[in-house]
Amino acid sequence: MTMSSDKTSSNHLDPASSETRRTFYIVATPIGNLEDITIRAIRVLKEADIILCEDTRVTKKLLEKYEIDTPTSNYDVHSTASKVEKIFVMLEAGKNLALVSDAGTPCISDPGVLLVAQIRERFGNAITIVPIPGASALISALSASGVPSSEFLFLGFLPHKKGRETLFKEIAGSERTVVFYESPHRIGKTLASLVEHIGDMRRVVLARELTKVYEEIVSGTATELVSYLTKHPKKVRGEFVVIVEKG
Ligand code: SAM
Repeated sequence: MTMSSDKTSSNHLDPASSETRRTFYIVATPIGNLEDITIRAIRVLKEADIILCEDTRVTKKLLEKYEIDTPTSNYDVHSTASKVEKIFVMLEAGKNLALVSDAGTPCISDPGVLLVAQIRERFGNAITIVPIPGASALISALSASGVPSSEFLFLGFLPHKKGRETLFKEIAGSERTVVFYESPHRIGKTLASLVEHIGDMRRVVLARELTKVYEEIVSGTATELVSYLTKHPKKVRGEFVVIVEKG
């Protein structure tokens, strides 16, 4: 069994250390403010042989800020089987790869889940898969919400059509805090559905543009939040995390 030795050492990618070769790093990057990255993430990105990016143009800004000149390659939800095969070949050749998404923690409502599953299936324990923790919008939102979070249900993005109604019923009946992601185009519709399903019985928190210039965290009933956004249409912009307090 191969064990990761990256817990404390500062030279994990030292070529002399053959036992620690062939590592696949899942590296969290900022969700807005480029300062929100760990020292370890910067080191791993510098020392990796290749960085797999959801969008290489987005990641380039981060790499430039930290003077990281590691080669990049694209991996996203549209990546083909032959791309995955190329990734396998690189791992077989002993390369260390780092996966990043456009923002936050890869594989959390982001590309990478399938790739990690495929790597585990192909290589078993012969490859070390190492998470490099950091920013995630859902955890940041929860931490500042004041809503009980010892137990919560994370729904990612809600479906646009099929299953949506059922999910709102589930949210209404949930005995756990519910967290999900929403886009500015759909936030109005989603709040209207919350008014319909939970009325004014539960507190809802909207966390918008976290870590960015227009960061805002507002809390109220679903009805109050609908009228807040109606009064301030400019606030229907950016990225949202929605938190619904348990019933
Ligand atoms: N993997 C990411 C993470 O760990 O947070 C999430 C990626 S998901 C494709 C993108 C969604 O996360 C956005 O549509 C939004 O709902 C939420 N999100 C990402 N960054 C955010 C931010 N700075 N403020 C609020 N929500 C954000």
